Amino acid sequence: MELRFLGGAREVGRSAILIDESLLLDYGLLTGTPPRYPVGKVGPDAVVVSHSHLDHVGAVPALLSGTDRPDIHWTPPTADLARTLARDTLKLHGGTPQCPFAETEVARMSQHSERHGYREPFEVCASGTDASRSSGHGPRDKGYEVTFFNAGHIPGSAHVLVDDGDTRLLYTGDFHIDEPDEGDVSDGDGGEDGGAERAAGGTGHRYGDDRSRRRDRTPDYVRKTAGLGDIESVRGQRLVAGSTARPDADIVLVESTYSDLTHDRRAAIERRFAESVRTTIWEGGTVVIPAFAIGRTQELMLVCDAYDVPCYVDGMGTEVTTQVRRYPEYLRDADAMKRAKSHARVVSGRDGQRKRIAADNTAIITTSGMLSGGPAMTYVPEIRANPVNKICLTGYQVEGTPGRELVETGRAEIAGGVIPVSARVEQYDFSAHADREGLLGFLDSYTESKVLVNHGDRCEVFAAELSERGYEASAPAIGDTVVV
Ligand SMILES: [Zn+2]
Repeated sequence: MELRFLGGAREVGRSAILIDESLLLDYGLLTGTPPRYPVGKVGPDAVVVSHSHLDHVGAVPALLSGTDRPDIHWTPPTADLARTLARDTLKLHGGTPQCPFAETEVARMSQHSERHGYREPFEVCASGTDASRSSGHGPRDKGYEVTFFNAGHIPGSAHVLVDDGDTRLLYTGDFHIDEPDEGDVSDGDGGEDGGAERAAGGTGHRYGDDRSRRRDRTPDYVRKTAGLGDIESVRGQRLVAGSTARPDADIVLVESTYSDLTHDRRAAIERRFAESVRTTIWEGGTVVIPAFAIGRTQELMLVCDAYDVPCYVDGMGTEVTTQVRRYPEYLRDADAMKRAKSHARVVSGRDGQRKRIAADNTAIITTSGMLSGGPAMTYVPEIRANPVNKICLTGYQVEGTPGRELVETGRAEIAGGVIPVSARVEQYDFSAHADREGLLGFLDSYTESKVLVNHGDRCEVFAAELSERGYEASAPAIGDTVVV
């Protein structure tokens, strides 16, 4: 088996790995201005997509241009969400050189779409012109058997097992693992570390002994003393259950987004978040909660419902919520998602309405997660001047984005101008990626396998750490070819 790294190697974004010049794993884009695509020209026989985030699926329509018609293999939620993402990319960049596909290619995606559930092996033929080539890298003519396993990252996300009859490759994609059950949950010890990248800034709030033991669902839910301690917590994401499958593999291609970070306990993060939002609402302020459309928006809706935090939801995340609810078997608790949907008030999208809501005493979950677009562009300028208001960032803020700028400087370029923000800014680590312990725990099942590290800012360092632990590990660079 020969692997060529076209993107996502020693970086986060534009993931793309080409197997034997025939089978492509993911074909994402690196968001930015302009967006960047995987390197080189490819004409694969088929593409297998791990999940529906832009950095894994964003460039897939471009594979269907000209006369190329590779089959696209993915789970049902990934198929639906990929179409939504492609349409959004067209809206943002369509018709410009920054977008290598058009409506025609997006429409072709459904004609060449092959949907598969978890643990349902399927055959992918290597039928292209290269199939008969004597490459010497395994029995190519037999094609591949591919199997998806739940990766616990977002609805439909998959670990991808590729077996060519000779070698088994496990591509983790992005994944998340539930916390071990260790009894009582306490606030973590990293929550005050507001300056650390990707760490949960938190508010520093701690819970006194006077907290009520009663879950209060009455309209006076914003009472500062309303209890949070008896909210049933989840040892991971509320939206999807964590990854548990550990299929045998000779090679593991593992993501490493948080290889240097330990997440706080999820329940502690949720409680800090809920208390902070409720406090601001109690004080008469508005809280804007920027969130990624796929996964994070739904997770925050579930958290707001569980903690009875009043909220509006706006942006692409509302459409995504409807889509993921079509696939209840891919959610941890479909009933909870249904309740969260009725708890949140959906914004229909006129700016006049948004301005009224921004003046309201409420929380607003809205795209984009890094303040680079979406309805947040209306809400943030509306609430920014009043220090009683708050912006709660809920994900990693990439260097160069307005969200990152806001965290670091207290001002950000939003809606065309650099604006100072007096509203308080906080960051919460609602990550959907395994942390260092999660990654090492996962790799415990693969001590005999060769490990290739990708999808991270410190892939080489993590590979070296794994080598010290006895693994045969490396971190290929973009353009590298690895024969296994
Ligand atoms: Zn992802």
